[in-house]
Amino acid sequence: MSQEGYNEEGFDTRIINNRFAKPDVHGAIGMPVYRNAAFEFPSAESIAAAFQYQEDSPSHTYTRITNPTVENLEQKIKTASGAQQVQALASGMAAITNTFMCLASAGANIVTSPHLFGNTFSFLKFTLAEFGVETRFVDTNNPEAVAAATDDNTCAFFCELITNPHMEIADLEAIAKIMHIRRIPVVVDTTVIPWCGFDAAKWGVDIEVVSTTKYVSGGATSIGGAILDYGTFDWSAHRRLGKVKPTAGMSAFSFKLKREITRNMGAAIDPEAASLQALGMETLKLRFEQASQSAYELASFLGQQSRVTKVNYTKLDSSPYKALSDKFVTGNPGAMLTFNLESKAACYRFIDELQVIRRATNLFDNKSLIIHPESTIYGTFSPEMKAVMGIEDSLLRLSVGLEDVGDLKADIVRALLSLG
Ligand SMILES: *Cc1c(COP(=O)(O)O)cnc(C)c1O
Repeated sequence: MSQEGYNEEGFDTRIINNRFAKPDVHGAIGMPVYRNAAFEFPSAESIAAAFQYQEDSPSHTYTRITNPTVENLEQKIKTASGAQQVQALASGMAAITNTFMCLASAGANIVTSPHLFGNTFSFLKFTLAEFGVETRFVDTNNPEAVAAATDDNTCAFFCELITNPHMEIADLEAIAKIMHIRRIPVVVDTTVIPWCGFDAAKWGVDIEVVSTTKYVSGGATSIGGAILDYGTFDWSAHRRLGKVKPTAGMSAFSFKLKREITRNMGAAIDPEAASLQALGMETLKLRFEQASQSAYELASFLGQQSRVTKVNYTKLDSSPYKALSDKFVTGNPGAMLTFNLESKAACYRFIDELQVIRRATNLFDNKSLIIHPESTIYGTFSPEMKAVMGIEDSLLRLSVGLEDVGDLKADIVRALLSLG
């Protein structure tokens, strides 16, 4: 959010009134869905110019590369975040994998926490390892341990803003200071807090990755992801991107990402999904604030229930991360919380009794969703891996939706009573 002139209008106004890159020929007030694959040109010379980036305002050529509807989503994300470059992709995992395909290379290492979204952990630990990229899992609650794990071959520091399901917050500001002295970029998955609640550039984040499936999609309408580049990192000494020509320096990451990596990987977002997500952007803050307020109320409420042995929500006084949460996050820290019951059997029983809260894996739908992470999201990991990842079998994850909070409380009380 550090771009000049950025704060002139409020967050919602800027997103809702965000202009199209080119005026619509019919004056459509909402961006049409350009679901075509290809774009035609009036001459051989003009199509050659478009392919060779010779125009000031590049034309679209093929939807795997760019598309007007996708570009409109990217513009709204730029406006919301203050990022210099945004790349929308087919999923959050596409955003994460494309980011590391751009940063890492054989012999490089990535420093991160073992407390990660399951597929991200799997990608780093298993997939990338087979290509000669080492991931060093350290306790990111300890900035010295993070520093000690880095060396000349470290291509990125990575973490999630609030880990799921542990609900931990790393001291990003302290870590970013150390990383920047060592000329290592800071990459953060901020899926759990959208741009109205977290100002990534202010705390030293260079590259942000987001699953737009969650808050942005406007109620679980579609799958998507985004990579945001704040233009804050000087890549000239970077192990891989230092070699990018002709623009190595502040834009090297997005240059390589957009011109090589995402094209080759091909995980383009569907224009239909991009259209739904651009609409979702217009109600993002409204939904985030409402759901987060309910989440805070429910977290406090759960903390008073005798059957609940522990509640994790970073705004609670009981959270060791409260100070960092209050510092980094504006307002309530999101609509996800986790809590423990006495056993796995109690968790199953509780889940089965719910009538308003749905049994599903996702976050930030308009509907409240509950899941038992150990047996589902982490269900195929070995007991040893679950221990490394810190996954307990007595833990439930609740993603709070937009239902009336009184009805959610009543649903929870009913399910707790069934435990006897
Ligand atoms: C959901 C999620 C992802 C993956 O996003 P998809 O859109 O499902 O690919 C990555 N990171 C976090 C923190 C998530 O919650």
